[in-house]
Amino acid sequence: MPAVILDGNKIASEIRAEVAAAVKTMTSAGIQPGLAVVLVGHNPASEIYVRGKVKSSEELGIRSEKHTPPENVSTEELLRLIADLNRRDEIDGILVQLPLPPQVDAKKILRAVDPAKDVDGFHPMNVGFLSTNQPGLVPCTPAGIMEILKRSRIPIAGQEAVVVGRSDIVGKPTAMLLVNANATVTICHSKTRALPAVCRRADILVAAIGRAGMITREFVKPGATVIDVGMNQVTDRAQFERLFAGNAKREETFRTKGSTLVGDVHPEVVEVAGAITPVPGGVGPMTIAMLMSNTVRAAQLRRGRESAVSRA
Ligand code: NAP
Repeated sequence: MPAVILDGNKIASEIRAEVAAAVKTMTSAGIQPGLAVVLVGHNPASEIYVRGKVKSSEELGIRSEKHTPPENVSTEELLRLIADLNRRDEIDGILVQLPLPPQVDAKKILRAVDPAKDVDGFHPMNVGFLSTNQPGLVPCTPAGIMEILKRSRIPIAGQEAVVVGRSDIVGKPTAMLLVNANATVTICHSKTRALPAVCRRADILVAAIGRAGMITREFVKPGATVIDVGMNQVTDRAQFERLFAGNAKREETFRTKGSTLVGDVHPEVVEVAGAITPVPGGVGPMTIAMLMSNTVRAAQLRRGRESAVSRA
């Protein structure tokens, strides 16, 4: 039997509706949550992401503002901007779009963001809160993964979870959230031996690798829940054939656009998994939804009210 598809678009729109309701309540009490986005230079992918974040804020009633320092900005100039945003009371969330240009000390910039306004959850203080299981701001993609699992009623406590990928943005925080939810967690990376066998232990398998279709059926225990975080553009015909041979819809996209989006999980896994997130339409839509949720949560925490918006 093919896997249940975990619909990230549907879950993200539920969360957005909850966020919009919370914003409405706050705004009628005289507090409109505010998000500041810092976009340095003209990286085309970053410009698209920032446009999506600003648009989403507007749709949900969150006040947003965009700061666009030039590509050659110095660390000191950016630190001054961050200090100003930290000081301004009407700003609840500060997001610095990554990557930053090479002359900028990115770690120093992320450390300068007030942890109470750190809606990306990258500040070491929020990382510490997460690892000690205390309330704080949690990175958006991992928080979105937990919402998919919880809202799809996938059991977590006592389950074996395997996370492939150990980045600070996805792999590590996801593993931490899973262990905080009482899963037994293994973190894998490029030096892990016998990766397919380790992955086959998983009741919940999270793939955050950045390699198109690497997780094939031999990595997956029958019936497991598979969360595919990967977002890879396939442009090579031979690779396309390995992943999508016989898939007429994908063939059409590939022929007209010259590329197609694929996760880190091979499409054949749908035949073995119990439940799986699709790409596109799985984890992707959750990331912006959780950014919106984090902004409202930051506003509520800063102003002494715990969030009404449900949390990972
Ligand atoms: P990253 O920083 O490049 O980390 C990739 C991780 O995968 C590293 O820990 C690396 O191991 C591991 N890895 C690479 N090749 C491997 C292999 N052959 N076997 C086992 N492990 C391997 O990537 P990331 O930022 O975490 O992102 C991962 C993927 O998620 C990317 O496709 C990215 O586009 C996507 N993503 C999606 C969203 C979303 O909203 N859907 C958000 C963020 C990221 P080492 O540490 O040993 O190098």
